[in-house]
Amino acid sequence: MKLWVKIILGLILGVIFGTLAPQYAGYVKPVGDLFINSIKMLIVPLIFSSLLVGVTGMDDIKKMGRVGLKTFSLYLATTAFAITIGLAIGTILQPGAGLDYQVPAKSAITQSSSTFSATIVNLIPKNPIQAMAEGNVLQIIIFAILIGISLNLIGKKGRPVIDFFDSFAEGMYKLTALVMEMAPYGVFALMAFVSSKYGLSVLLPLGKVVIGVYLGCLVHATVTLAGSIAFIARLSPVKFLKGIIDALAVAYSTASSSGTLPITIRCARKNLGVSDNISSFVLPLGATINMDGTAMYQGVAALFIAQAYNIDLTFANYVTIIATSTLASIGSAGVPGAGLIMLTLVLNSVGLPVEGIAIIAGVDRILDMARTTVNVIGDCMVTVLVAKGEGELNEDIFNLDPTNPDLSKAAKA
Ligand code: ASP
Repeated sequence: MKLWVKIILGLILGVIFGTLAPQYAGYVKPVGDLFINSIKMLIVPLIFSSLLVGVTGMDDIKKMGRVGLKTFSLYLATTAFAITIGLAIGTILQPGAGLDYQVPAKSAITQSSSTFSATIVNLIPKNPIQAMAEGNVLQIIIFAILIGISLNLIGKKGRPVIDFFDSFAEGMYKLTALVMEMAPYGVFALMAFVSSKYGLSVLLPLGKVVIGVYLGCLVHATVTLAGSIAFIARLSPVKFLKGIIDALAVAYSTASSSGTLPITIRCARKNLGVSDNISSFVLPLGATINMDGTAMYQGVAALFIAQAYNIDLTFANYVTIIATSTLASIGSAGVPGAGLIMLTLVLNSVGLPVEGIAIIAGVDRILDMARTTVNVIGDCMVTVLVAKGEGELNEDIFNLDPTNPDLSKAAKA
């Protein structure tokens, strides 16, 4: 049986197991944790080595700047689309209408402590080893880019280090493939655990917000993302989605786009035909700053909370929500629950009660799984667009059916 079929089967069987025998779900949880730990183990060495090699492959500084600008602009544009879809769905569906919560006497305002300038200053790691130990992806990206540029500047002398990291990165790709063999079992265990915790009784009162977020994810994934693949890149959206199906199943079950990163990079290289240079630059950046699903969710969630507390929002409030959700999604780490925490920023900006977060928290995992999946689709879409624009997309690989067992042979050839 092919790997992706096994993963989807693991997902479905996990839901069935967790729903029918919730009392046993705790026993399989360690298998899920083992899987998550194995992917997390790959992140730092994989990003560092592949990005360093990728940067040295782009010895033209102008090209690097162009790729960076394109990536960043596309990430911002897709996020803005996502949040607009979220607000539209929140307005049409009215997920919080009729809940009639009372506004708490004094809502506990939590201030975000990091300012814009501190965020920029912190991009440079004071201690790169510490950045790696803490898994600070943005700092690792900056460090790898700087070393890559410097290695290019020293010419022949830089070759041994580049060759070393080149073979190190190959080793990391192989390790990713080996870890993926465990995915069906890991996904089964994670889904069994989640399903055992969220029975129908928890889901029903918040059913509309769950429907709203899932609908928003579906619309953004099909219209904005798959649509861009079809109409801007002029490629098959079906082949695109099939190519990243492994990453999507892992994103859905782990609710972490950073955690899924090794698998996403692998899918982009092997199934979509994106060059190593582009995938190792655009994807780690995306997993850190590009969160379409999270931005869309914050729009729906903010409107849900306003409606639940019967608070009317003005047009200016909507504009503020768009701006803060974009920032909050950029600031969210690609880990489970990050988007919920960053929602405080959005609520504070328009004076909505932060207590509303407690209502959503009950179902947040279910919402997180969907928004993380869309976050990953968004990263892959931009990667394909940038690669295509740079002439670094191998369309023969893209057009092969990734569910075809001969693909890996063809991709290697
Ligand atoms: N879990 C999401 C992710 O990893 C972030 C979020 O909580 O929205 O992409």
